[in-house]
Order: sequence, then structure tokens, then C-alpha cells
Amino acid sequence: MDRPRIARGWIAIVVAAIGLAAAAAAPSLRQAFGSGTAVSSAPVAFEEQSESAASHEIGPRAQAPVTFLQLNDVYSMVPIDGLGGLARVATQKQQLAAAGRTPFLVLAGDFLSPSVASSVFKGEQMVAALNAAGLDLATLGNHEFDFGDDVLIQRMRESRFTWVVSNVIDTNTSRPIGGAAAYLVKTFGPLKVGFIGLCLNTDEITPDKLKHTRILDPIAAAGEHLPALRREGADVIVAVTHLAFATDRELVEKYPEIDLVIGGHEHFLITATENRALISKSGSDAKTVARIDVNKQRHGTVERFYELLPMTGAIPDDPRTAEVIKSFEGRLSSELEAVVGTARVPLDGVSSHLRTAETNLGNLVADAIRAEAGTELAIVNSGSIRGNRVFAAGPLTRRTLIEIHPFDNVIVKLSMPGRVVLQALNSGVDRLPAAAGMFPQVSGLRFVVDAAAPPGSRVRDVQVDGRTLELERTYTVAIPDFIFRGGDSYTMFASQHVLVGPEAGTLISLAIEKLVAAKRDITQQIEGRITLR
Ligand SMILES: [Zn+2]
Repeated sequence: MDRPRIARGWIAIVVAAIGLAAAAAAPSLRQAFGSGTAVSSAPVAFEEQSESAASHEIGPRAQAPVTFLQLNDVYSMVPIDGLGGLARVATQKQQLAAAGRTPFLVLAGDFLSPSVASSVFKGEQMVAALNAAGLDLATLGNHEFDFGDDVLIQRMRESRFTWVVSNVIDTNTSRPIGGAAAYLVKTFGPLKVGFIGLCLNTDEITPDKLKHTRILDPIAAAGEHLPALRREGADVIVAVTHLAFATDRELVEKYPEIDLVIGGHEHFLITATENRALISKSGSDAKTVARIDVNKQRHGTVERFYELLPMTGAIPDDPRTAEVIKSFEGRLSSELEAVVGTARVPLDGVSSHLRTAETNLGNLVADAIRAEAGTELAIVNSGSIRGNRVFAAGPLTRRTLIEIHPFDNVIVKLSMPGRVVLQALNSGVDRLPAAAGMFPQVSGLRFVVDAAAPPGSRVRDVQVDGRTLELERTYTVAIPDFIFRGGDSYTMFASQHVLVGPEAGTLISLAIEKLVAAKRDITQQIEGRITLR
């Protein structure tokens, strides 16, 4: 559901819009540019390139002593919609090594969570798969703290790759968390590369996750450690970051010695030059790996050759990585038989019911989202509730709950005026009497629909907690990230004030599981939240 987007107000050189489609279909693009000492706006050249990434190469890129392969924000071990998969990434790295390159695989944070598998294994499966795939270096993202700092330290202990973390301190030891390096200098042939690692310090990581961890300001921490890289003779400086793009820009504005930012957090492709740095984010879920070959010429120019490698089915799975993934999937399958609670009534998940009227299952899902977010209201597009059947009364297993919501969507928490709530409800009932996935299931409110009225003015008598919706009052509202991004024609949410964004939201499937586990007995009824006239 993450489409390539261009960040607003961004004037640097951007190829994000070319995105996945071009990367998957067209001859790959190669962006080569050098930046000299005084050059702030580097020349950029696009060249069509016909040879595969794995074949022996000629030309300036072949001179580069190191080939960075970038991942960030990887939640799935396996392909999604045919793209991605860590076993393919492993093969990609091996093919480059076989072609005489020196590949170095870097992950810029966010991979221990969230996913259905992570709700069971707490990220152990990702570390095992990344160990097998040959990950070389990682830094922390906000989701690495989802299970608390002690679980994170355990995961760091299990990893065979190196961690570079310059701004996250274990207050028990006053050292970087989990034995990570605060900075690192690595030698690739004639090239010495210095690394720092920076994690965001915003409230996307809640204080309850940080029992004995302190996250320092990333910009200040960079200033602490960059001089050490210089002292140790680094020719090239790479910041591995999990920061908002605006913070990455601030970082390279402040520290012009940074040549390359291997970044994460945004889930869309970003390739930008800012000051003299190249900032790269490679989307999410390893659908695309950014390949960045780096060289430093004798007269001092740092060259960075950039290419997006789509992880398609044309790349075979690395058998060893595939084996590890398969074993966790087998274990997951048996974990999913665990009973979470019991339905004392049948739960109506028939899609033609959900998409035209209130159902008790729709109420359950909307309640789960609202309870997890702690908002006054929740609005859910009924198209996100699946199964298309009546779930009989009886035990509710994890597998059943995942059947009800089989997506990796997360909850976004917003605040907005009542008139936007009304606008959203009106948009949701636009297609009646036709069944449409946009039809809302709601929690915390009741309303009347006059389906005979013209679209846009069908919703009447909206009540929040027994009181009439006030058009100018501000309400907190929880919604799926899918409709936050404009899915099912809900275009009004994107411009509202974000309290918890898609990068930090809880999985909807996990929220459903938590509600069912807390209640144990599910007796959800149709309550007249939505009255059709
Ligand atoms: Zn993140």
C-alpha cells in the first residue's frame, strides 16, 4: 500500500517518482555523480544500463572499492505482491560478490516489528533471516523498541551483523545500547569508510519502552562522533540513519563532511542530493534494494553510483536463507492455532453486509482500533474486514483473527474538526445502495443515513457519546493507515493533524487480538450505530 511519493516542499534532485514501476520494468537507471570539495550542487547523469547487476562490469563504477546494498523498513521476510524477500536479497549480494564486487549490506532500521510473525516471535525471526542473508551493518529504528529495550538487547545479542548506534545509550552501562559501536571505520581495499548510526528521538518511541535507555538528539550526537571518523582517517563518511527526511536534510546541511546517508523511516523511495550528500531511502519490505557504489578519486572527488534493484522473481532464493524463513513460517503456523478468546455469538463478516450496513464484526474491529489508539472515535473502511462469511460462535484462534484482518495495516491517530468527521462519513456512504469497501464501520459514534439524499449530504444526526457532533470542535479519531493515505476515496484525512502516524502505529491485527484476549467472551451485537433510512 506504500506507493512512491515525493515529499512535499522538496527541491533537491529526486528520482523517487520514477519509483518501483520504472525500476521493475525499464532498463535500470544509473545515477552517477561526483562532488568535489567546493561543489554543492553536483552534476547528475542518468545512463541506460543494459548489463545485469551481477555481470562483470566495466567503466567507472567497476573501480569503486565498495558496493553498498541498502535496505530499510523491512517487516516481511517473504515477498509481498511478488516483490521483495530476504532470500532474494541474499542471492543479490552473492551475485555481486561473484562478479568481483565488494558488497556490503546495510539495514537502516525498522525490522524487528510490526508483523504477524513479530507478534509471535518478537523479531527473533528477522534477526535469524538477516543473519542467514548476510546482513553486514544495521542501525536502530523506532520499531526496534516495540517490545521494550530488554528484548531489543536480546535481539542484538543474537545478531551476527554489526550495529552502529551513535545516539542511543544504555543508562545501566553509559555505553551504546546492546554493545553497538558508537561509530565505525571499515577498510574496503584502498578506501576507508567511516560510519555513524542515528535513530530518531521523537515520541514515536514511547517512554514505557525505554526502561534503561536514553535517546540523545541525533544531530548533536553526530557532532560528537564525526571528528573521530576524521581522526581515524576515513576517506568517505556514511551516516546510517532512521530519521525523518527533514532531519536527514538538517544533518547534511550541518555536517557537509557526510557523503552518503543510508536512511529509513519513510516507506517510499527517496534519492536526493542535499548539500554534497546523497540521501537514499529504499522503500520498504526489500521490494527494492538501493545499490550505491562508492569511490574516491585521487584528487579527492567522492563518486557515488546509484541504482535501484527490484527484488523480483527473476532472482532465485538463497537456499540457506529460505530454509531459515521456512522453519519460522512452520512454527508460526502452529502458533496461529492458539485460542485467543471465544465468540458467544456468530460474527457477521459477510462482505455484502459489511459494505452496506453495521455488523457486529464491524463493531468489534472498530472498537479494537479505538481502544488501542485511545481515541474518541474510530472509522474503519469495511473493505479491510475480510473472510466474507459468518464466523460461527466458538473458539477464536489467532488464525481466525488474521483471516478477519489479513493485512499489515496499522492504526493512525488523528485529531480533526467535527465537520471533517461528517465529511468522512458522508464520503463512506456515497455509493449506497451499492456495496462498497468504503462503507464505514464505526466506534464511539452513531449516525443516520438517508440513502435517498444526494451523495455528500446523506448523513444526519451524528452523535458522539450521546451528544450531537459539533462541527467546529476537535475530536480524536483512529483510522487504518490505508484510508489515511486516501484509500477507498477517503481523501480528507491526509491533511488532518497527525498524533500517531503510519510509521509508529500499532498493527490492526494486533489490536483485534488484544481486544479479544482482554474480553475473552465476545458477545458483540448490532447496536444501532448506523441507522439506514
Ligand atoms: Zn520508522
